[in-house]
Amino acid sequence: MPQAAVEFVNSEPQFHRPCPVCEHDESEVFWSKGELKVNRCAHCFMLYVADLSGEFASGKHYEKADFHLSPDKLNSDYSPVRFERELRIFRSFCASGKVLDVGCSTGGFLFQLQSRFPEGYAVIGIDIATAPLGHAEKQGISVIREPFLKHDFGTERFDAITFWAVMEHLPNPKKFLSRAADVLRSGGHCFILVPNLRSLAVRIVGKRYRYIMPEHLNYFSPETLLRFVQTEPRFRVAALQSTHFNPLVILQDLKNRGEGVDDAARARLLKKTTAMKESGWLLGAKIVYRACEQVLGHFTLADNLLIVLQR
Ligand SMILES: [Zn+2]
Repeated sequence: MPQAAVEFVNSEPQFHRPCPVCEHDESEVFWSKGELKVNRCAHCFMLYVADLSGEFASGKHYEKADFHLSPDKLNSDYSPVRFERELRIFRSFCASGKVLDVGCSTGGFLFQLQSRFPEGYAVIGIDIATAPLGHAEKQGISVIREPFLKHDFGTERFDAITFWAVMEHLPNPKKFLSRAADVLRSGGHCFILVPNLRSLAVRIVGKRYRYIMPEHLNYFSPETLLRFVQTEPRFRVAALQSTHFNPLVILQDLKNRGEGVDDAARARLLKKTTAMKESGWLLGAKIVYRACEQVLGHFTLADNLLIVLQR
């Protein structure tokens, strides 16, 4: 967490931080989108928010978790298709064992893992957003209501730790990476999924892309993600893939002219996309969609990057 409060705007303290990957503090504004300023590091070309408002620096923003509890978002997160790609990759590296999901929110991933493979895994989630954790518990998921960096795990060690769409939100991602190495057993795996700065979507839509948003503080490309994980010497890279493709987001954001997409609209589109995936569409459309996703994945142009690390 950055320590020095350097400026006060509307009585919200702002925090300045150096590049979260190489730690140099030499950068220029690369994208400006409303209040959001995204800088580019002059040394490693990482894109990141250098001046954080207090609510993002402290994590307080996530205590208001209305978006995650909206019926559309919940239906989407608990749909069996929601985590199918993550599950496939996860299972190919970790067939059983103790799993910790950091930033588990409403528990969608752990629920799928636990309900599909009840003999294989002991699962637990950790998050600071308390309302979504209540939902996870109602679905039978054990949770820890404490910051990952502060919780005392004692001698407990995990076979796998997952960060699904979490690292891009963190003011101090290196500390989370190092903590993951602390609490993984030797040989265990860490899974990190982040939006892909080099995706086809960002190339087409640019800063109008909806996931260039105030909640996202770190924008990783394949190169900066590799550089980032290599700062933790206890990990070796087991795999790096690019995955997921949502052409509807590209079309909507192109039309949207960068005015920002509110939470309800994002949830509605998630619901629509999930319903299309569940319905099977027309067989032909599905084959074309899968082929597009595979080609994009091959060229590291799909929407997300998923890196697998071994301790
Ligand atoms: Zn840098």
